[in-house]
Amino acid sequence: MYPAGGGTTREHCTGPGVDDLQGSIAAEQLAADEERKIRPEVARVREAWSCRRGPLVLSQSGCARRNAPPAGSIVVFVRISHRPYAPTLCARDRLATITNETRRGTTGGPRQALNYSMTNIPTCKAPDPDTHRPRYRPPAGACDAHCHIFGPGDRYPYAADRTYTPPDAPLARFKELQGILGLERAVLVNASCHGSDNTVIVDAIAQSEGRYRGVANADNSFTERDFEKLHEAGFRGVRFNFVKHLGGMPDMDEFWHILARIRPFGWHVDLHFDAADLVEFDALLHKLPVPFIIDHMGRIPTKAGLGQAPFRTLLELARRHPDCWVKVSGSERISSAGPPFTDAVPFARALIEAIPDRILWGTDWPHPNIARHMPNDGDLVDLIPLIAPDAATQRKILVDNPHRLYGFGAVGQARPAGA
Ligand SMILES: [Zn+2]
Repeated sequence: MYPAGGGTTREHCTGPGVDDLQGSIAAEQLAADEERKIRPEVARVREAWSCRRGPLVLSQSGCARRNAPPAGSIVVFVRISHRPYAPTLCARDRLATITNETRRGTTGGPRQALNYSMTNIPTCKAPDPDTHRPRYRPPAGACDAHCHIFGPGDRYPYAADRTYTPPDAPLARFKELQGILGLERAVLVNASCHGSDNTVIVDAIAQSEGRYRGVANADNSFTERDFEKLHEAGFRGVRFNFVKHLGGMPDMDEFWHILARIRPFGWHVDLHFDAADLVEFDALLHKLPVPFIIDHMGRIPTKAGLGQAPFRTLLELARRHPDCWVKVSGSERISSAGPPFTDAVPFARALIEAIPDRILWGTDWPHPNIARHMPNDGDLVDLIPLIAPDAATQRKILVDNPHRLYGFGAVGQARPAGA
């Protein structure tokens, strides 16, 4: 579907006409009928933006950010997925998405009309700056297995086709946070707002003396050598978002291609699902060729109870699949009750009881896209003794399990001062 060897197909069109666009789309090797469908929609978006000047850059999503388009460009990111097929257009901080419910690869089915919507890229809330020191003290070598570093944007620019803009949450503040929480290790998951540029995480790991590992965002342009370099830098997995507010299902050709590429490195795939999708993708999860992690307890809303189908599916998957790991993070995301999020405790406990050796815990700092309850990370640490009441289990989920998956340096080597 894409040019051999991956990489970016980038066309600069100097004129304002739709014909230029047509040429670019052809360069992306879209199927002819799809190209016909997209062309007028792209023209309409262009018209609506009055962006009649400036170069037009067409790129497979995730590629153009590596070859920074000239200032003032209209960047058209074409993202092909089975569901939905969604070419996305971006210009400055505006974003438009064209969706087509047609499943690529199926033939003969009715093709629905293309729709497009245009939105401003939202800015998400900043984390609570007044982290309180938790009452619970984690054991030596404890790991925050899910957190992010955002920017600073002037040094590590956010991706042009991001779905949100985060407030900067730089490494210096993260180090401070780890000190307050009594945590020594971290798995830095590159967030979608940084696209497939993993530099911000590479640099953070390099300054960690073996205490941090990374999970990368990758795309089809990544070569074996790219993955090798990331491995040497301390990366041990890739992440894919399936959640709708972050763009929905990934391009599945790209997904399988990347899993095949990471397998020789012994990496895993980190999966971000909405609860309802767990049921839909159950069969796919059973087919994965590498270990996989379900983020944030599958984002299962606590209000639907322990008996809800997505949670039963998750428990069953975890029990039956020896390579399924689950992060008991995201209590603040699944909670209805709000702080201190104790309504999430029975869910975490059920998961820990089911697969104690394949559970990870994390803060999810700086908590991107939290709509309701911005947590205090001190509260999240104080949930640990509630979800894992005995010291042996706490040690498993905070120290042994992450160490088995990520292979950190020796325990206690760099315990934060005063912790
Ligand atoms: Zn996160």
